[in-house]
Amino acid sequence: MSLFAAVEMAPRDPILGLNEQFNADPNPAKVNLGVGVYTDENGKLPLLACVKAAEAQLVEAARARGYLPIDGIAAYDKAVQGLVFGEGSDILAAGRVATVQALGGTGGLKVGADFLKKVNPGAKVLISDPSWENHRALFTNAGFTVETYPYYDASRQGVNFDAMLAALNGAAAGTIVVLHACCHNPTGYDISTAQWDAVIEAVKARKLVAFLDMAYQGFGDGIAEDGAVIGRFVQAGIDFFVSTSFSKSFSLYGERVGALSVVCENKEEAARVLSQLKIVIRTNYSNPPTHGAQVVATVLTTPALRQQWEQELAGMRNRIKAMRTALVERLKAAGVKQDLSFITTQRGMFSYSGLTKPQMERLRGEFGVYGVDSGRICVAALNEKNIGYVAESIAKVI
Ligand code: PMP
Repeated sequence: MSLFAAVEMAPRDPILGLNEQFNADPNPAKVNLGVGVYTDENGKLPLLACVKAAEAQLVEAARARGYLPIDGIAAYDKAVQGLVFGEGSDILAAGRVATVQALGGTGGLKVGADFLKKVNPGAKVLISDPSWENHRALFTNAGFTVETYPYYDASRQGVNFDAMLAALNGAAAGTIVVLHACCHNPTGYDISTAQWDAVIEAVKARKLVAFLDMAYQGFGDGIAEDGAVIGRFVQAGIDFFVSTSFSKSFSLYGERVGALSVVCENKEEAARVLSQLKIVIRTNYSNPPTHGAQVVATVLTTPALRQQWEQELAGMRNRIKAMRTALVERLKAAGVKQDLSFITTQRGMFSYSGLTKPQMERLRGEFGVYGVDSGRICVAALNEKNIGYVAESIAKVI
């Protein structure tokens, strides 16, 4: 009998499964609003000009590929710190942050989760309800019990903040709370600055462990604006975790470029934490790959490329915002009576449209418009060519 005879078939990833279904759909008008990927006005995944320029430079000065240090490229880690904590901030000058290069934002979360399992093994993890679908699986696989705190409230087309705060205030000391730093996935609803302050107060008072997932820095209101929440945690004197992803902001999905930063009490503590993060990495994949991080480091540290990146990122952010406004207008023009202006108050790549599972199924089956059953649509995949068809299709199922 085979060793694997009893191995069960795992369920398909719901969103990647949707992609397969989309690819197999013969409808020529089909539109994929399922997967969380930014496409440009021509419906194409962009290769940013700053990335292309940095790659040209790297090819020009081509180097042999030795192993990287376990924690990655030093210039990359430093650039990430500047982006996340602010260039020249006190906390960086004090050496209080341990940062490691990671395999995308997912890798940053996983390195952090494995480290936390060592220092805080009995802790529970709280994620938002709903959250990015991999949060639960990732922390569960790291050995934690994962529960949720209330977040989305369909009836108020927004966040049930009172319930969220009550859950945090009711959590046991040491509970790990995963927070979306900006551009909440999947809902698109972020909390206000005043609400962040209340969260920070609860984290501090209840001695919770905040883990900020920053997968969309620059997609909300701007790089510094979206990063401001990090400064507020620092200001409050809290030790916390931040995972970073450049998948979206550099359109480098397949290069797996991300990071984990851990804010510590002092420099000596940061050195000890870093030594432990390196053990997690060493025993999982030894050390990270060179290319993507080299590209990102080159862009972030070369003033002209940095400026170009900031412009290109602003271009993506503004295009998404324009599509949100256009979608609301086109829906109205298509005869939808409901007020759907909440779509323009949401941030980032996604919108919880408020559509029900049967409506999402009809959109797929009858119109070839693919979103997630939860009603989540990727507004970053809308463009002038498909938005009219999407709006008319939605109008027919509402
Ligand atoms: N966190 C959130 C909230 C995300 O939406 C994503 C990507 N969809 C990630 C983490 C993972 O990012 P990466 O692809 O860089 O691993």
